[in-house]
Amino acid sequence: MALEKDTLKQLCTMLNRFVHERLIPNERVVSDTDTIPSDILAEIKDLGLFALSIPEEYGGLGLTMEEEIEVAMLIGEAAPAFRSIFGTNVGIGSQAIVLDGTDEQKSKYLPRLASGELIGSFCLTEPEAGSDAGSLRTSARRNGEHFILNGTKRFITNAPFAGLFTVMARTDAGSTDARGVSAFLVEAGTPGVRVGKPEKKMGQQGAPVADVVFENCRVHAENIIGHRENMGFKTAMKVLDKGRLHISAVCAGLARRILRDTVRYAKDRRQFGESIASFQLIQAMIADSETEIYAAECMIRDAAKARDRGEDTKRKASCTKLFASEMVGRVADRAVQIYGGAGYIADYGIEQLYRDARLFRIYEGTSQIQQLIIAKDVIAATD
Ligand SMILES: Cc1cc2nc3c(=O)[nH]c(=O)nc-3n(C[C@H](O)[C@H](O)[C@H](O)COP(=O)(O)OP(=O)(O)OC[C@H]3O[C@@H](n4cnc5c(N)ncnc54)[C@H](O)[C@@H]3O)c2cc1C
Repeated sequence: MALEKDTLKQLCTMLNRFVHERLIPNERVVSDTDTIPSDILAEIKDLGLFALSIPEEYGGLGLTMEEEIEVAMLIGEAAPAFRSIFGTNVGIGSQAIVLDGTDEQKSKYLPRLASGELIGSFCLTEPEAGSDAGSLRTSARRNGEHFILNGTKRFITNAPFAGLFTVMARTDAGSTDARGVSAFLVEAGTPGVRVGKPEKKMGQQGAPVADVVFENCRVHAENIIGHRENMGFKTAMKVLDKGRLHISAVCAGLARRILRDTVRYAKDRRQFGESIASFQLIQAMIADSETEIYAAECMIRDAAKARDRGEDTKRKASCTKLFASEMVGRVADRAVQIYGGAGYIADYGIEQLYRDARLFRIYEGTSQIQQLIIAKDVIAATD
């Protein structure tokens, strides 16, 4: 059910203020300490940001996709680490339960994911299975009413704080592809689950990733999402289809912010006796960025509406993720160029955003994987 127009407007006004008064001024603290300050985390919870995509009956805001992307575009204007802390609960850490969980699984976990009391992480990638996720090796061997999980998951966002892992593991030992995979709900603290040391990353400091290792970890069969064995890869792909729209909106928000900062800088900075914004070669870069941001926003809103109408948006989600994530990379690159030397120096802030933006072309499916999905679908649909 959609929110009342006025309620969404009020939420967006509040978030806009929060982004500009609280998040953007604290970006440096987050990148320097690699942590989101606890007072900001508390405010994020109070604003209901953990709850965006969780149905109202489970304590969430139950936003439609069209509403969620508007919120994601706003939040996207702040350094992406702020979104990442609640992003897994809104996306990959909760949606497997929302989309395919049993009523009991929903009641048990969704209210705590919506409040932010519980952080959810999504464990698909492995050291030997990245883009080819269907070849994953983490095994889940049946043992009576339980499964015994063994394997390593790699680059798992929010793993160091997570209370709940959605783990894709191979239940059909005879299979080597996506068909023999099930999705398990595994609570942190279950014997046999270990989280590795957070990785040092190029950007997005404050949004930790780590290995999650399973060593003879005993999980009850009731923890398979939807109690449906060997359906876990399908669930994971459904989760990513939705997540790609959300990530695209974050890219568009970040690109808007970068362009705004850049134009302000260009109007201020003077060379040859004039503001550099008056130079047509600078204007061309501004115009290219504005055009591409607008195109991404149109794509994202169109795809979100189609999803809310119940259409299959797999192709549109991939087109949108491909375009928006590549677009924010180009916008950030032009921004560094327009800032000149200052674009390369940490104090001016733009180099951090340039590094932060780089991740979007890689996770939730690389650009090449989006190209493959799009091309396969177009070819199959063409007579
Ligand atoms: C900061 C961060 C956070 C992450 N968070 C999570 C998370 O929470 N949960 C999770 O499960 N995973 C997560 N990931 C993992 C991420 O989804 C993978 O890194 C990504 O899917 C790519 O896999 P890979 O790194 O193994 O690269 P590879 O699959 O080894 O790809 C390497 C290169 O080869 C290209 N390539 C691969 N196959 C093809 C092909 N068939 N045709 C053309 N080119 C191809 C790729 O596009 C890429 O350019 C995260 C990664 C990072 C860096």
